Amino acid sequence: MNKQKKLEELYKQCIEELKSINIDLQKNRLIETKINTRSKKRYGCCKKLSKDRFQIEISEWVMDLNEDIIKNTIMHELIHCMPRCNNHGEYFKNYATVINEKLGYNVSRTGNKERDFKESNLNYTEKPIKFNYKIVCENCNYNFFRQRVKKNFTRWYRCGKCGGKFKIFKLRNAINTNCQKIRISQSTN
Ligand SMILES: [Zn+2]
Ligand SMILES: [Zn+2]
Repeated sequence: MNKQKKLEELYKQCIEELKSINIDLQKNRLIETKINTRSKKRYGCCKKLSKDRFQIEISEWVMDLNEDIIKNTIMHELIHCMPRCNNHGEYFKNYATVINEKLGYNVSRTGNKERDFKESNLNYTEKPIKFNYKIVCENCNYNFFRQRVKKNFTRWYRCGKCGGKFKIFKLRNAINTNCQKIRISQSTN
């Protein structure tokens, strides 16, 4: 199922569940849902387009998490559509408490990415780092990548495997990879 469809499906479920506890959000409001492909940090956001029109955005990466976590996020943003709930103050908190108790949600004011990824059996990694340099040991060919290279790097550092000198290559196309642990030893001369 594509992500927008999935979002609309789960959104409908949330709206129905809210109705079952006498919160009818659609009565006086028009709410649109959208997937945000840019945001890497926040789970979602709620934009007030006019007096009674709202747009809920859920970040694309959230859609890969467990459904209950996605629904918690949708519910969080839906609360922002309620009166006096444009922040995370008292009113927001009260709605969250009722929804958590009556509908078994776990809506909080902030998310915990690391925990949510773990619960969804996904590896949690921060944005991959862009590596611009390849560093190669002249002696044993041991090599690794670096985002930046300090001035005098080749003078100050030697290969951690064989003690050889390093050569630095600036990459024409930066590569994205996960951080590699590297072993280097400080040069003694
Ligand atoms: Zn919020
Ligand atoms: Zn070496």
